[in-house]
Amino acid sequence: MFKTKDVGDQSPNAVMAYGPGGLFNTPGLGLNRKVGKSKKKTGIKVGVKGSASSGDFDHGGRPGEIGGSESGDGGGGDDGESHSPGDGPKITSFLQATSKTPGIARDAAKVINSVHSLDDMPKVPVVATGGKQTLGYYKQTVDGRPVEIGLSKASSEDDQKLFAVHEMGHYIEGAGMEGGARNGAKEFAPFMKAVQASPEHAEWKSGKLSGAPAGASVAKYAEYLTQPHEIWARAYSQYIATRSGDIAMKGAVDRLNKIGSVSGMWSHKSFKPIGKAIDDMFAKRGWIK
Ligand SMILES: [Zn+2]
Repeated sequence: MFKTKDVGDQSPNAVMAYGPGGLFNTPGLGLNRKVGKSKKKTGIKVGVKGSASSGDFDHGGRPGEIGGSESGDGGGGDDGESHSPGDGPKITSFLQATSKTPGIARDAAKVINSVHSLDDMPKVPVVATGGKQTLGYYKQTVDGRPVEIGLSKASSEDDQKLFAVHEMGHYIEGAGMEGGARNGAKEFAPFMKAVQASPEHAEWKSGKLSGAPAGASVAKYAEYLTQPHEIWARAYSQYIATRSGDIAMKGAVDRLNKIGSVSGMWSHKSFKPIGKAIDDMFAKRGWIK
């Protein structure tokens, strides 16, 4: 029995219950995230999934799928900062394809490759989630060992890509950055400070979320939005979208922005200092240059 900590991001069907008419009952918005901390899963069979069929995303993925990593194509978004990935390993070296790996995972990982490198980190299998209750999750043991990334097809393809990067952001923070955001690591302090200066954060803190339907019960959802590791994963996905210039991901961020602070994302203006803080963290780590 391994104790695990889930970082689960749930779907419309689950979150609809929070408000009359469904707080997040808008198809394709991809903003349906789970409320609160989840520690529901125990007894995960670590090391079973993903060890059977596979290989990492760089080498020998699924038969019939395009293998190999492409890195460094493009880069530099439209937000005034342009960097190249560092010389270290890329995320595609650490993601393990299984017979259940959705194709969107590979696309998402390639976008990450174009933005930054990593240090060596434990590998993680990527699987598809079956039900409609979950848009994605990252699961790790309590001591920070990755168990799996789960991705669902319950939203539009562009949103799926953004979500895949969001979950990979949880993985990187949890397994590649010593769980820094949730542990209050010093490294994350300037990033958190930039986040806390954003008007979006003020709204999440106030518990009054713009874009939420009248009468919806948003307090718990707002609390969820302010959890450091969730803030990190959302910021990370917006960072990858802006720095890569990936059209699909940028489109997804733009759509989420139009909804209001309930989406958990930042306006381009608010995001600039946050993106800069992530640049600084990654530059210090040698992940960008
Ligand atoms: Zn999340």
